[in-house]
Amino acid sequence: MTHQKIFGLIGYPVKHSLSPLMHNAAFSRFKIKAKYKLFPLEERQLKDFLSGLKKKGICGLNVTIPYKEKVLDYIKSTSEGVRIIRAANTLVIDKAGKIRAHNTDCLGFARHVKELKVKPKKVAIIGAGGAAKAVIFALIKLKAQEICIYDIDKFRVLALVKRFNQLFSGGRVRAVACIDELSLSDKDLLVNTTPIGMRETDPLLIEPRNLHKDLFVYDLIYNPAETKLLSTAKVAGCRYSNGLGMLLYQGVEALEIWLKPKKAPVEVMRAALLKGVSKL
Ligand code: NAP
Repeated sequence: MTHQKIFGLIGYPVKHSLSPLMHNAAFSRFKIKAKYKLFPLEERQLKDFLSGLKKKGICGLNVTIPYKEKVLDYIKSTSEGVRIIRAANTLVIDKAGKIRAHNTDCLGFARHVKELKVKPKKVAIIGAGGAAKAVIFALIKLKAQEICIYDIDKFRVLALVKRFNQLFSGGRVRAVACIDELSLSDKDLLVNTTPIGMRETDPLLIEPRNLHKDLFVYDLIYNPAETKLLSTAKVAGCRYSNGLGMLLYQGVEALEIWLKPKKAPVEVMRAALLKGVSKL
């Protein structure tokens, strides 16, 4: 009799996650004996939890806030994306119990952008936090020529820009001092990587008059499905997307790492996610 394979999500809090829906739907489609569970962990539990994965039958994990960076203190084997972004959201545990860390947020963003048929050349980004790093790495891989970033924390954005320009030549990543300096008129993609827009009372960060038809507007937020930024983009005649596709494809990429060489059942996972998000 084969044992049930266990996958799951570590973080705190994790109870609102949509990941179990999409991964368990994929396991059912594959008819494999596997279950995706939620593991809410406090920081003091993290080290012991990671050292006992094989014993618990855990084959793969996703990692969310606040441990995307912290897990790297305990893991030696990392993908290129993890080394550049300095954060991991997917762990795979081999038969010997060895853990390898990946970052599928960047892979997920890149795959969704390709699905949307966006070919980013000149990009404006709002926010320079964890998600922005994944987005920037993806955009560099997608051969974007110019990436301008604004964040309210000027030291954070300057540190991020310095790091990317040290890693990738050409000085294509640039910080701007205020949101107007993003000069949207010559950009083809605007990405919101801040949480601003999640609440109804949140302000609109850009001037509607700066949006134009050749600009694709991507908001990483997926709840609400249409933020103020996206409804403004719609009125301005822009193409636009929320971040549900990024969430889907980070999960697809994680599943394909765990079940290699199987290909993820993307539409099954998408349907599970859409059903879940409609109930939020
Ligand atoms: P984070 O690390 O907190 O980064 C957000 C950054 O935006 C911070 O530097 C923050 O500065 C800055 N910021 C806040 N308000 C701003 C404003 N008015 N103007 C400019 N910058 C501002 O958060 P994160 O982990 O990157 O996540 C950001 C958002 O992306 C969240 O809504 C998250 O749910 C979403 N996300 C979606 C996906 C997906 O799959 N769709 C994946 C990852 C993240 P302060 O810290 O000073 O406030």
